Amino acid sequence: MRRLLKSSTLDLMARPWFSQLLSRIGGHRCAILMLHRFQRHGSTEERHDPQALRRLLAGLRQGGVALVDVDDVARGRTDGVELSGSSRISVAFTVDDGYADLMEVAAPIFAEFDCPVTGFVVPDVVARHRWYWWDQIDWILRHAKSSSIPTELGGTPYALEWATALERHSVQRRLGERLKRESPRSLAEFIDQLSQVADVPVPGQAPPEYATLTWEQLRSAERAGVRFGAHSMTHPILSRCDDMQAAHEVVESVRQVRSNLARPSEVFCYPNGLSGDFGARERALVREAGAQAALTSIPALVRYRGKEPAEMEQVFALPRFAYDERPGGVARMLLG
Ligand SMILES: [Zn+2]
Repeated sequence: MRRLLKSSTLDLMARPWFSQLLSRIGGHRCAILMLHRFQRHGSTEERHDPQALRRLLAGLRQGGVALVDVDDVARGRTDGVELSGSSRISVAFTVDDGYADLMEVAAPIFAEFDCPVTGFVVPDVVARHRWYWWDQIDWILRHAKSSSIPTELGGTPYALEWATALERHSVQRRLGERLKRESPRSLAEFIDQLSQVADVPVPGQAPPEYATLTWEQLRSAERAGVRFGAHSMTHPILSRCDDMQAAHEVVESVRQVRSNLARPSEVFCYPNGLSGDFGARERALVREAGAQAALTSIPALVRYRGKEPAEMEQVFALPRFAYDERPGGVARMLLG
């Protein structure tokens, strides 16, 4: 453990020169970080490493960086309020998709450092009406007896082939990126096809490794200090939905999160969240749903320049960095 701490350059955050450098940065800025799944004990999955998270939080605390609630980031912007007293730099942590490992693995670490964390959940998945399509694909490929699966996508052959688990991960990642652009109907058809060709049935309910938090578990997580906001009803790319579905995805998910939870986040989170995945219609829907702000996945710092109309509009498209646990990753975001 000692050696691990020493070997990591993440602890540069704790060094005096780093704090001095931060104090010279002009203007208040905040990095909102986006995380997903965490490694359970002994697992070697491509997920966030709990020890790296602990080292980062220790470094941020020692470096005097304010760890803030994303709802306060939104309010700080809308009200033009200074966020964190004397500290001019802050970091907010968000965890998307509501997997159970947020509470099993990460929440105790955030609590150890008294760091606010907000999860974003998908009510149809919370209620067990569906499970995520990317997990269904993961399930099929993991259980396929052959590592060569001929499929068809958009009318052309699309062969899935791999030799090692690492190769399967990259095949899966490429397929996932491609499928994000498909309509919900053709996505469902593709999964049916894949399940048949690979001869792996897809269970009606998510198997334990893909478990997400139920409403009951979300309420008990709230009592442990974690907050939750809405992330759409079914996790589609909203700009690809027709007007009626887009309205349902945004407004109904905000409504369900509010009605099921005691202290819901007033921030909405766009699925996928890159430019082109949401637009003026989605921003208007978030506002109509009564949420105070919305998060994207467009990597940039939130900068505070007072309360101007242009800034107000930005509140419904706050930038956010994908969490980078490589040495110095978060430091680079803060300084960028
Ligand atoms: Zn998501």
